[in-house]
Amino acid sequence: METAVLLRSSNKLIFNPRHYSPHNFFRLLSSSSISSSSLTPLNPHRSINPLTARSLPRRRKLIPPSATSSSSSPSFHFNKHHFSTLSPHAIATPYSLDASTVPDEVAAKYGFEKVSGEFIGECKSKAVLFKHKKTGAEVMSVSNDDENKVFGIVFRTPPKDSTGIPHILEHSVLCGSRKYPLKEPFVELLKGSLHTFLNAFTYPDRTCYPVASTNTKDFYNLVDVYLDAVFFPKCVEDYQTFQQEGWHFELNDPSEEISYKGVVFNEMKGVYSQPDNILGRAAQQALFPDNTYGVDSGGDPKVIPKLTFEQFKEFHGKYYHPSNARIWFYGDDDPSERLRILSEYLDMFDASSAPNESRVEQQKLFSEPVRIIEKYPAGDGGDLKKKHMICLNWLLADKPLDLETELTLGFLDHLMLGTPASPLRKILLESGLGDAIVGGGIEDELLQPQFSIGLKGVFEEHIQKVEELVMSTLKKLKEEGFETEAVEASMNTIEFSLRENNTGSFPRGLSLMLRSISKWIYDMNPFEPLKYEKPLMALKARIAEEGSKAVFSPLIEKFILNNPHCVTVEMQPDPEKASHDEAAEREILEKVKASMTEEDLAELARATQELRLKQETPDPPEALRSVPSLILRDIPKEPIHVPTEVGDINGVKVLKHDLFTNDVLYAEIVFNMRSLKQELLPLVPLFCQSLLEMGTKDLTFVQLNQLIGRKTGGISVYPFTSSVRGREDPCSHIVVRGKAMAGRVEDLFNLVNCVLQEVRFTDQQRFKQFVSQSKARMENRLRGSGHGIAAARMDAKLNVAGWISEQMGGVSYLEFLKALEKRVDQDWAGVSSSLEEIRISLLSKNGCLINMTADGKNLTNSEKYVSKFLDLLPSKSSVEAAAWNAQLSPGNEAIVIPTQVNYVGKAANIYDTGYKLHGSAYVISKYISNTWLWDRVRVSGGAYGGFCDFDTHSGVFSFLSYRDPNLLKTLDVYDGSGAFLRELEMDNDTLTKAIIGTIGDVDSYQLADAKGYSSLLRYLLGITEEERQKRREEILSTSLKDFKEFGEVIEAVKDKGVSVVVASPEDVDAANKERSNYFDVKKAL
Ligand SMILES: [Zn+2]
Repeated sequence: METAVLLRSSNKLIFNPRHYSPHNFFRLLSSSSISSSSLTPLNPHRSINPLTARSLPRRRKLIPPSATSSSSSPSFHFNKHHFSTLSPHAIATPYSLDASTVPDEVAAKYGFEKVSGEFIGECKSKAVLFKHKKTGAEVMSVSNDDENKVFGIVFRTPPKDSTGIPHILEHSVLCGSRKYPLKEPFVELLKGSLHTFLNAFTYPDRTCYPVASTNTKDFYNLVDVYLDAVFFPKCVEDYQTFQQEGWHFELNDPSEEISYKGVVFNEMKGVYSQPDNILGRAAQQALFPDNTYGVDSGGDPKVIPKLTFEQFKEFHGKYYHPSNARIWFYGDDDPSERLRILSEYLDMFDASSAPNESRVEQQKLFSEPVRIIEKYPAGDGGDLKKKHMICLNWLLADKPLDLETELTLGFLDHLMLGTPASPLRKILLESGLGDAIVGGGIEDELLQPQFSIGLKGVFEEHIQKVEELVMSTLKKLKEEGFETEAVEASMNTIEFSLRENNTGSFPRGLSLMLRSISKWIYDMNPFEPLKYEKPLMALKARIAEEGSKAVFSPLIEKFILNNPHCVTVEMQPDPEKASHDEAAEREILEKVKASMTEEDLAELARATQELRLKQETPDPPEALRSVPSLILRDIPKEPIHVPTEVGDINGVKVLKHDLFTNDVLYAEIVFNMRSLKQELLPLVPLFCQSLLEMGTKDLTFVQLNQLIGRKTGGISVYPFTSSVRGREDPCSHIVVRGKAMAGRVEDLFNLVNCVLQEVRFTDQQRFKQFVSQSKARMENRLRGSGHGIAAARMDAKLNVAGWISEQMGGVSYLEFLKALEKRVDQDWAGVSSSLEEIRISLLSKNGCLINMTADGKNLTNSEKYVSKFLDLLPSKSSVEAAAWNAQLSPGNEAIVIPTQVNYVGKAANIYDTGYKLHGSAYVISKYISNTWLWDRVRVSGGAYGGFCDFDTHSGVFSFLSYRDPNLLKTLDVYDGSGAFLRELEMDNDTLTKAIIGTIGDVDSYQLADAKGYSSLLRYLLGITEEERQKRREEILSTSLKDFKEFGEVIEAVKDKGVSVVVASPEDVDAANKERSNYFDVKKAL
């Protein structure tokens, strides 16, 4: 059974901001990189992220990524660097045009009129735009045969200040409503629905509430809860919700100090602890000083406490109105039913003037460039001189661009920056002036498009050189144009991605919605962004006719070189900043306290108490019952079946999955890593990167990249390591993943062979760049995903597989990279021969396994190429496993970084207690996360997130928190989990919901390639179909008794668990004082 999927994808609804970038036509590529992370919930161990996060996340979300969704996702990516190619109409699917329609009289009956309608070939959908006559609310109703149905309601919510009103409101409206009067209906949906997506986002100018499900009944339940939430939330009358989600003073006892608490407050403190985020915010605000983008819709922690409840209520009243709403429906459900449901809500309102008030004003262009300097909190360790960041940002136009220009700019962006071989990216990184790229390239999700590019890890004295290099490179590109092969590779990459439309676990309908909304929200045509075929063909024709230089050079000149609206942001590391900010906050709070009378203080302590009591009191059963749920009968009794045929080609095992893939072949070529010497393991991620980015005897890495781009849909290489249940020895492999159109399968296998056998590890300078980039990436992870780092570290103390993963993606890896940076200079020959040694040890027919997903005909056709590929592999007489026995020393540990919020973890191996895996464990751990931890760590603790995770392969049960203001207090909550379960009482409805929610995780929606990949991982981990069936039955029959017994099992974490935290020096000091040196301290930044 997909144990890992179960628990690790329990937050599958959340997509990782690092992998998400704005939607324009070409950023589809990045939604494809989301796709890959969908697969990784299966991967219980984490390693590298081959993708440099190029885009600065703009959205604030209701819930953070889980430990696993962010920490394990890095392990695999079809990164955009290696996406690609094919001829224009190669991917075409037949479709039927009989998508159901809404008769005019039915629309009229529900109060709607049809504005326009079209069949959109690109997404094989019939789309109709309706207008609600009474309020003017607009509805895009998209019908097709996609079972993964999507609903979304979006309001224009431009803020006037940085108090974070839209963000706090986004959180708060999901805390109870008229029809669903409980504390958090949202959490009830998380617990007990089959959703394939459930979250909410705040953009700089809009707020978005999407849900998705493949089950129609479940889907409409979700829609109703969301509609009631946005239009009739309790939060506008309930000051305590505002306090909880936004901010409040907390005072437990009048003798203690006052502190600030609030979920958004702490979430944003986390955001403001990350240099890349600070840079992105500074740039946006300086680019748009005169309109709503000049403030932070997410909220600046310094400004959030200025927000009043009155302003908050007023904002909701004004903007959460049908007249200001855009509503999206997508999928195979009945379009008439959609209008019926909407009419029940919309009819209750009259038209308002909100659309005028919410209009986003355009920023006028500057006549002179601007330069700003910002400081960011840095640790005092390491070389601060080389920690500067520099980024150049342009506002490209004073009004929205037409789609054709936007498309061409997107193409240009990909040409300049899209792959490691792209000239602007390559030249900047090869200059040695910095460690990694910053800036998101072209971004067109807001009203006016921007372009930004820069470097981090720069010496202060090199700042000017970086600026000059950016400008001279852009000038050179304008004058000389791009190589023909590069243009061809970009074109094919973009086309493959558009046509494959592989959005991974992110519903396709949601990806389309976000694209459509990016124009619709500004009163432009919502259909246009969905149609790429014509403008793409026109662009291709223009390039063919006039040459690429004639197309792109004028754009570089007009929008960048001759554009005075340029903001240069320089970021300086400041080791004092974190403690200064902390001290400034303390000072304010002390003043507040000093200004209060004794009665005031008593009252505040009472209010604090009252809020906590409310947060910790469970909802009454009748309120809980108001949230609609499925019943167990609605749930299929059998797990989702993935057709798998196990065969043999030239003595190598081959798994084939016969699934419809639109003529694409997905292949994984897996090599056993067990024969690798232990000391070489930390080099593996860089070995993988070198295979793709170092070049061969005949091809430079640029040529190799272009070839991959022109011939295939992308190739990626990454390690996969996991414990295997009931076995000492871990499962450890290197996976080569590739995809290509059916007609290009031979090319795909030839290229994989070339990458594996012909790449030469000789380019010292390039390798050194890889090391610097990886180091920068790890430092970023440490600040942004400290929970993942803590989880990896705990695993490394508990089992060998965990140790390996930590060596390739944890604090140990960061330490290794720092040493390696020097070693590359001193002993390059040694490093190079180690890389060669890895190759020799890996490449063997004996340890190889092939996995392929496509339809039957294409699978059969591919076999001859597989056979040829295997013939070229060396065979060894036997593959001997190397001795792997390392683990980190078991003590508690605090990883200290400059941050305003902490990540707190505690874990133990529960198999060591004699516990035998039972399906109920999935239900129970999800339940602990969504009740006990949600209530105590997030709601009353004020952290952005708290959850537990059970790695059923290793037996490690771990607790983790995310952007947490507390430390020891959170550990106490974890320790209380056992008692919570033992004393638990629950009615049947609650139990049923918990079971259904768990099934929703197990049956998480997967596209064909993901199904084939999951099946591969199950095969590697020895999980049989019988076991899956057995676990499912155990899940379905989970009882309260199981909960209580599990309460005993997880006492092991309390009694014998190891704790690792990633935290600020102040909090660690305080904790060590309070609990006599509980933590060994390790400075990491
Ligand atoms: Zn949030």
